[in-house]
Amino acid sequence: MPELPEVTVISEDVRTLAAGRKVVRAEIFRENVSNAGVEGFRERLVGSTLRDVRRRGKIILLDFGDVVGVVHLVISGRVLRLPAWRDPDKIHTAVIEFEDGLVLAFTKLWLGYFDLYEPEHVDEHPLISHLGPDPFTEAFSVQYLAGVFGRKASVKGLLLDQSVVSGLGNIYVDEVLFAASVHPTRKADTLTREEIESIHTATREILSQAIGLRGTTFDSYHDAFGEVGKFQHQLKIFARVGEPCRVCGTKIEKSRVAGRGTHVCPTCQPL
Ligand SMILES: [Zn+2]
Repeated sequence: MPELPEVTVISEDVRTLAAGRKVVRAEIFRENVSNAGVEGFRERLVGSTLRDVRRRGKIILLDFGDVVGVVHLVISGRVLRLPAWRDPDKIHTAVIEFEDGLVLAFTKLWLGYFDLYEPEHVDEHPLISHLGPDPFTEAFSVQYLAGVFGRKASVKGLLLDQSVVSGLGNIYVDEVLFAASVHPTRKADTLTREEIESIHTATREILSQAIGLRGTTFDSYHDAFGEVGKFQHQLKIFARVGEPCRVCGTKIEKSRVAGRGTHVCPTCQPL
């Protein structure tokens, strides 16, 4: 699933490709891909100009002025640049043609994942209304983390919880906890101030590096130019089960934490 770095890259790509361009055609595969329905989707988008593209958590926001597209790429969704118009289908769930022949397909969206909202109501969207602070905002402070970590839940479970911090998923949480030398099953309320500071620093550093390398590609993720990311070569722990830890040489172990496959170096991340 695209996490914060991948959604950031895709959002910036779409801005580069399409910002300032007028929509000449807009179709969705099925009525329930968008709250606007097939007809509403067409009527509200055709003739409007894409002004900007932003990101909230793992959600892409397409700012068309008086209407905002709220796009969630879910598991393996992509934004594809197509050589020419094609009618939407199961794969190319929503297709938008901009002036000068630019055609973007939003692929494999689930039901309702290309909603259209009035700008003033975007914060009420069910995928957005419960989002915690973005890791790159001031609200995501060490103080804030210390507050939300005052619970008995596992630190991994809390970092995956989009209402605690928005944008992190399984890959980056494993990398962050390894960088901070914290075991994923640690109860958050047992973390020291130093450990919380390490998690805070590692979160921003690792996400920044991943954005710089245009994301992590294991299977489906490609940017809007069709290129794969490069951060998978920098991963220190994720998907390296059985391989030696790059820091200490201990075999990396895998278990299930918070319902997700979790990678740990038992030496660098003692319990
Ligand atoms: Zn190690």
